[in-house]
Amino acid sequence: MHAHVLGFPRMGIDRELKWALEKYWRGEIPEADLAATADELQKRHWAVQAGAGLDLVPVGDFSLYDHVLDTAAMLGAVPPRFGRGGGEVDLETYFHMARGDAEHGIPAMEMTKWFDTNYHYIVPELAPDTTFAKTGSRLLEAVESARSLGLSPKPVLVGPLTFLLLAKEVDGCDRWAHLDSLVDAYCAVIRELDGLCAWIQLDEPILCTDLSDKAKAAFAAAYARIREAAISSRLLLATYFGAPGDNLDTALALPVDGLHADLVRAPGQLTEILGKLPPNMTLSMGLVDGRNIWKTELETALRKVNTARQQVKTDRLMIGSSCSLLHCPVDAAGETGLDPEIKRWMAFAAQKCAEIAALKQAAVGKGAPGLFQENKDALLARAAHRDVADKAVRERVLAITPGMYDRTSPLAVRAEAQHERLKLPLFPTTTIGSYPQTAEIRRTRLRFRKGEITETEYVAAMRAEIAEVVAHQEELGLDVLVHGEPERNDMVEYFGQQLKGFCFTQNGWVQSYGSRCVKPPVIYGDVSRPAPMTVDWAVYAQSLTGKPMKGMLTGPVTILCWSFVRNDMPRDEVCRQIALAMRDEVLDLETAGIKAIQIDEAALREGMPIRRAEQADYLRWAVDCFRLAAGGVRDETQIHSHMCYSEFNAILSSIARMDADVISIEASRSKMELLDDFDADEYPADIGPGVYDIHSPRVPSEDEIHSLLRKALAVIPARRLWVNPDCGLKTRAWPETLASLDNMVKATRRLREEQR
Ligand code: GLN
Ligand code: ZN
Repeated sequence: MHAHVLGFPRMGIDRELKWALEKYWRGEIPEADLAATADELQKRHWAVQAGAGLDLVPVGDFSLYDHVLDTAAMLGAVPPRFGRGGGEVDLETYFHMARGDAEHGIPAMEMTKWFDTNYHYIVPELAPDTTFAKTGSRLLEAVESARSLGLSPKPVLVGPLTFLLLAKEVDGCDRWAHLDSLVDAYCAVIRELDGLCAWIQLDEPILCTDLSDKAKAAFAAAYARIREAAISSRLLLATYFGAPGDNLDTALALPVDGLHADLVRAPGQLTEILGKLPPNMTLSMGLVDGRNIWKTELETALRKVNTARQQVKTDRLMIGSSCSLLHCPVDAAGETGLDPEIKRWMAFAAQKCAEIAALKQAAVGKGAPGLFQENKDALLARAAHRDVADKAVRERVLAITPGMYDRTSPLAVRAEAQHERLKLPLFPTTTIGSYPQTAEIRRTRLRFRKGEITETEYVAAMRAEIAEVVAHQEELGLDVLVHGEPERNDMVEYFGQQLKGFCFTQNGWVQSYGSRCVKPPVIYGDVSRPAPMTVDWAVYAQSLTGKPMKGMLTGPVTILCWSFVRNDMPRDEVCRQIALAMRDEVLDLETAGIKAIQIDEAALREGMPIRRAEQADYLRWAVDCFRLAAGGVRDETQIHSHMCYSEFNAILSSIARMDADVISIEASRSKMELLDDFDADEYPADIGPGVYDIHSPRVPSEDEIHSLLRKALAVIPARRLWVNPDCGLKTRAWPETLASLDNMVKATRRLREEQR
């Protein structure tokens, strides 16, 4: 029985890879230094796994930027604009693919979310003339490096169908035309590794999505060929982020030696798999969650192993992580700031390796009783902890009545009341919330956190900043103002820090993309709001202007999606608790005289399950949670929401069901294309499709904004069109911000003139 993980976090405990990458990009260290850091990290991470007692170590899970990009480079699928000659893809080309070549104005490849995680991969491009051929021998070198350390390496590859289906078709390409040559290149890679390792892992998480018949057939064709390339190494087909479900028969019919199943996300599939597993196929049981930070219930997991052993011989079982540990932080041992009681419930990557090894030990009868006992004690203590089940919160959730999800009056009636009260012009102009977060602001926040300045000094500095932001907006002539969010480091962390039931790690970093890492808050207990969170800032900002000041909140779904969530309660229930806490804040803002309140749901779309069959249920509770947060206000209080994506039409009816009075969405990068199939009857409320991209310092001209607005007016009735940028402005500098907003206001004025 082998114990293994599907992959390990890459950054290092002190984010060494991040620092090395960024130094390299700034030209401060040579390539050799970056390579040395990478080599050091790979070896260290293997040592952690081997030291914990795992039998196989993954190789090829490490990456300087992204493993899908590595796969594209390994297969020679480099888009021609990067001007590569042939042979191995050099580091410069590799990073150009990831980040673009600013010097020559060559855009990077696109980046998008890896299934339903917060990890972003580089999207391979398939053009009609794309060719594939193995380049270099990076995997082979890693295998040899691990072997030379006396380890048993298990190369990990993004499987051919996952690669093909995640790629983007460009220039009218049909992806299926490339299947054969893609598989040829994979075979060349596998032939080179064959015999040097016991197992080769092929990641096909795409098997846990809805597949067409064509895709299912392609699996059979591709794997028949891949099988021929692997003569003495065994092939492990890895599925994760759900169950193969209706693709299980396809998976089990493939000529592979083992199937890995995610028994954390889809525990119910075990019985079916055991019933169908072909006699000689190994089952790798993904029992330890690669997506979360909590200890595994070892006894429960062991029971599953024992169930499997009744039907599968021990030597045909493997114990593993549910998916790669890429999605969890490295090591909880270094967390000195956490409440020790809560820390005791946690397991990061290093601890998860030990859990997997312990499960195997116990299964083969060489029990680790100490660890099992400690695990049991910790989980019992967790269940009994006072914050984990807060009676008042539980009662409040039970007491939610259907009416609490609804505003008092229908949209049209509210619009009338708000019009009366706010007296906004046609095409109201506004911004999304944040204004430039200068180094000065960040320094002040840091000094306050470190206790170098008093709270009074801190508040005074932030108020001065707010006053400046308000003055700028007045001068620009914007209609609905914001306070600028200088006091917020992050739109989720800021609220998590003030809510009960959240805690924060010091070093719980997870890779988001490239060198970018995030440190999600941890929801460990029942969530409630002890005191108002934003009211003072909003009231102060409103006191500076006669124009309406938007209160600015993050919505419950976004807070949920961007946190590590407790796993002892369904997500929708955690979300309802957050919604109630945010509802309190909304009502306090209203009572304090704030007339417009924006509740951002930047993550609503990305929380969507991968399987179509599960999407409706998610959208139902997610939208309900938004409504619960917003539903308590009076008709004349205007509820705004903001969403950071343009794949909007697909879920238009759900967005309409949020019943916000005004929404703002990203639209400029696609030149308002999203409005092409926008149905103004299906979406009845006010809407501000972003008129300029805030991701770049480029200043859009008045004409450009004006013509985008004209385009919007062709589909959105004039009375419902708002004017705003795509998103918050915190990553921008002041000069371009003022210039862009000035053009935005001028373009709007021109449009108003034309409407007379
Ligand atoms: N109000 C937030 C801001 O302006 C919204 C950010 C977001 O949607 N990502 O920064
Ligand atoms: Zn946004």
